[in-house]
Amino acid sequence: MNQNPLRAAVEEARERTALAESVYAALKATGKRASHRLALYRCPSGCVVLDVLNLPQGVIFHKPAYRLSPTMNATTSSAAGREKNTRDGDRRWKATTHFASECLNVTLNCDHLREVVLDKSEIQADLDARRAEVVVQVSGERCTR
Ligand SMILES: [Zn+2]
Repeated sequence: MNQNPLRAAVEEARERTALAESVYAALKATGKRASHRLALYRCPSGCVVLDVLNLPQGVIFHKPAYRLSPTMNATTSSAAGREKNTRDGDRRWKATTHFASECLNVTLNCDHLREVVLDKSEIQADLDARRAEVVVQVSGERCTR
């Protein structure tokens, strides 16, 4: 079979993401996330914006689903983005799960944080310092609870 290498790479990344999603869902369903958790990131109001789990297959980043207020939603998203990334075509944004190795940074969102970008190096620094719970400010600054 003559397979396009780029297509093969894209397909492999998609399969890795599907694996991350199914592993996370299984751990959630069985109540076992806590035993794999490296760190939990929250907004200043307490929403979980990033869950970092350590698994034999690699480190997983999970961003929970969130809902935006009508005003925040209208001013910070486009119709095309809402169509593609929400469950209701409006303001219920889908959760995303992937391996840490598949990204360079993570964009955090909730009704209090919009598009706050954390570099993987910042997350690694938190893990190295064994910060189990990190609060991310609107400015992107991080502190421990
Ligand atoms: Zn929040």
